[in-house]
Amino acid sequence: VILKHYVTGYLKESDMELKNTTIKLNVPKGSSAVVLKNLYLSCDPYMRYRMRKIEGSYVESFIPGSPITGYGVAKVLESGDSNFQKGDIVLGRTGWEEYSIVTATQTLFKIHDKDVPLSYYLGIFGMPGLTAYAGFYEVCSPKKGETVFVSAASGAVGQLVGQFAKMLGCYVVGSAGSKEKVDQLKSKFCFDEAFNYKEEQDLDAALKRYFPDGIDIYFENVGGKMLDAVLLNMKVHGRIAVCGMVSQYNLEQTEGVHNLFCLITKRIRMEGFLVFDYYHLYPKYLAMIIPQIKAGKVVYAEDVAEGLESAPSALVGLFSGRNIGKQIVVVSRE
Ligand code: NDP
Repeated sequence: VILKHYVTGYLKESDMELKNTTIKLNVPKGSSAVVLKNLYLSCDPYMRYRMRKIEGSYVESFIPGSPITGYGVAKVLESGDSNFQKGDIVLGRTGWEEYSIVTATQTLFKIHDKDVPLSYYLGIFGMPGLTAYAGFYEVCSPKKGETVFVSAASGAVGQLVGQFAKMLGCYVVGSAGSKEKVDQLKSKFCFDEAFNYKEEQDLDAALKRYFPDGIDIYFENVGGKMLDAVLLNMKVHGRIAVCGMVSQYNLEQTEGVHNLFCLITKRIRMEGFLVFDYYHLYPKYLAMIIPQIKAGKVVYAEDVAEGLESAPSALVGLFSGRNIGKQIVVVSRE
């Protein structure tokens, strides 16, 4: 799947195209590259950001005319790197293609625990899971009994933040964009309350309904109008972990936020973070979360698109909320 050009405005399927090319599936002599068969690919909101011309940021732009790259779970077919053997299953940065030849093998992580759905390494056992864990425990400074609000709560990151907050004994409310998602937040992920932000005329009033005494912690995934309304409802000394602002990624000019003065009057700590700064916690996180999933103490919802050709539409769907849970693409199951 090729990115045709830099994208402006809302991402469309026609900004990407499927191309057939034949490549030689062997490691060039003397190279330490690894040949991979891609099994599962991840659709993540940050990928939209990489479709614009970026300078001096934490990631680079995709290259127009080249395959899109992203997190994938893959099987090693051939390896010039002694750390990987044929048949190994790895997590890493691969291409949106059936087969990839990866030269930066230091970015590949060998998956040892295969007694779980392998696609979970793109979600709960991967980057979104670590984002929820680091963002909640390291950035929010949470305490038992506090009130927590999560936006885009049914997504790859949000569904976990809510469960972590419940496990700690917090009161947790989530917002999402459909009735089905709202129902799932309460019945499956054990949020205390949830609401459909698309049906609320007045977000400030909606938040007051669920947080009459205010919000201690806001896990920010969407930005824009929601952030403005939350600022009005934060408690004194509240914390806002700014994880993402998905409502802004397709806009050329980001929306103004009017209530930032609340940061001063309420002495709020608002902190942006990037999961890349927390990979030292990854082994500790995996050791905690894999047993929790196996014991059924934490649950995880995925939205599965079948076939590489469905990847462009799956990625576009993130920005209208079509995905219910972590969006993955199955390229091959073996
Ligand atoms: P999700 O699985 O939550 O998918 C995106 C969701 O965002 C959609 O399903 C939709 O749900 C919601 N959404 C889309 N457009 C809008 C809009 N205009 N207004 C409000 N909600 C919208 O994605 P992730 O869980 O993977 O990511 C959540 C956030 O975390 C993103 O902002 C992402 O960029 C960020 N992130 C940040 C990281 C970091 O290191 N800081 C790492 C990983 C993710 P709905 O139906 O509820 O509208």
